[in-house]
Amino acid sequence: ARCPLDDAALLRTAAYIDGAWVAHGDSGAAPVTNPATGATIATVPRLSRVQVAGAIAAAERALPAWRARSGKQRAMVLRRWFDLVTENAEDLARLITLEEGKPLAEARGEVAYAASFIEWFGEEAKRVRGDVFDAPEPSRRVLVLKEPVGVCVAITPWNFPAAMITRKAAPALAAGCAMVVKPAEQTPLTALALAELAARAGVPAGVLNVVVGRAREIGPELTGNPAVRKVSFTGSTEVGRVLLTQAAATVKNVSMELGGNAPVLVFDDADLACAVDGVLAAKYRNSGQACVSANRVYVQSGVYERFAARLGERVAAMRVGDGFEPDVVQGPLIDDAAVAKVEEHVRDATGLGARIVAGGARHERGGLFFEPTVLADVTSEMLVTREETFGPVTPLIRFDDEAEAVRLANATEFGLAAYLWSRDAARVWRVAGALETGMLGVNTGAISNEVAPFGGVKQSGVGREGSVYGIEEYLELKYVAWEGA
Ligand code: ADP
Repeated sequence: ARCPLDDAALLRTAAYIDGAWVAHGDSGAAPVTNPATGATIATVPRLSRVQVAGAIAAAERALPAWRARSGKQRAMVLRRWFDLVTENAEDLARLITLEEGKPLAEARGEVAYAASFIEWFGEEAKRVRGDVFDAPEPSRRVLVLKEPVGVCVAITPWNFPAAMITRKAAPALAAGCAMVVKPAEQTPLTALALAELAARAGVPAGVLNVVVGRAREIGPELTGNPAVRKVSFTGSTEVGRVLLTQAAATVKNVSMELGGNAPVLVFDDADLACAVDGVLAAKYRNSGQACVSANRVYVQSGVYERFAARLGERVAAMRVGDGFEPDVVQGPLIDDAAVAKVEEHVRDATGLGARIVAGGARHERGGLFFEPTVLADVTSEMLVTREETFGPVTPLIRFDDEAEAVRLANATEFGLAAYLWSRDAARVWRVAGALETGMLGVNTGAISNEVAPFGGVKQSGVGREGSVYGIEEYLELKYVAWEGA
């Protein structure tokens, strides 16, 4: 088949270890499929545990020289990586659409978002700084130095195949760490293309490695190898708990970006057009397959029916299809299990009395396509509000007063993102203070950018990514007590 990329060398189908491409997997090989068509795009190796240990050893060897460079020197390498990602944005976007399924326009947006972390953390590399304190004893100084954590592991999900890697690799490299990345089995190609561009940018051999293989087989090496000092994970809470337990045996530093169950509160005093646009963005981007996707939409009684009608109209007009087709805004879901879960949530809700305002079934195109859906008259006992649907379904729940809405919003073990629409400043402050969440969008459904700290509270995770805080996850403090200074 014709290569879908302008630069065929970006279609890498081998693991990247110690500056070399490793085409042979000691545990076999695995196909990468296009969720829109079911076609096999490429085959990548399945590395064995021993091969992954080799990647960790390479990172360990590369670490001393990389951490010895100045922040400015590392910043220059990251800047070149940023420039190359930007120059090759179209090819990267095509790879994302091919292996993940999101519409090409969204994939382009993801590449820009992914690149922004490389740019940002390259700049931050120059601003890592310690402190000097006055000690209790006059003869003494208290110095606090910042040092890289060491060899880090990133385990990333399929839903944002580029951004979830750069959000971890860029701060790690900026801080002077070396990293082994394990992308999701569904989306290794974007990760490997990023590694190719990092190599072209001058990231030294061993500083950034990409390993591919069966998670259950190689995961224990990544989380258990004593040379690894940190594990940064983005994925489900279920897997996060397993990795936390595994990392505990050698007391590793961890960052965890886990699941969400984001509530949306639309108050009677909201700008309704703005709320409809915002919920469309917060729910249907990537067909609802994001950890910050709106999962439960609470709408106050006074505007409930109007909101439902307007949202339903917009959702019914959404074009579903292969992400490469023009004007498509909803691609396929990632796999059969994802479609089955969405179907089950809709069936459960309608069985318990929910009303379909738009969609509600598998799409007539078949395959992994599901109709973008709006459900009204949803209640708190339905699966669609209790679990993360991770699909294109908006459940609308009616509420009467603010306290009730806040109580319902907080009634979950998760606390990643929340959204609210109101034009009453006093209410915004009150509700913002009361919501148990790591991130809150006020009158907006688009909250992610490189300047903002991304992360959750409760069982949504540990740590923050992006922002001036994100680099701290890859730095340790060293305290020096200097007598006679
Ligand atoms: P999702 O539901 O988005 O697929 P997962 O939490 O299942 O999220 O997967 C996120 C990442 O974690 C992927 O890279 C996946 O391969 C990896 N993963 C899943 N199970 C394990 C495991 N037991 N050990 C290590 N990594 C795992």
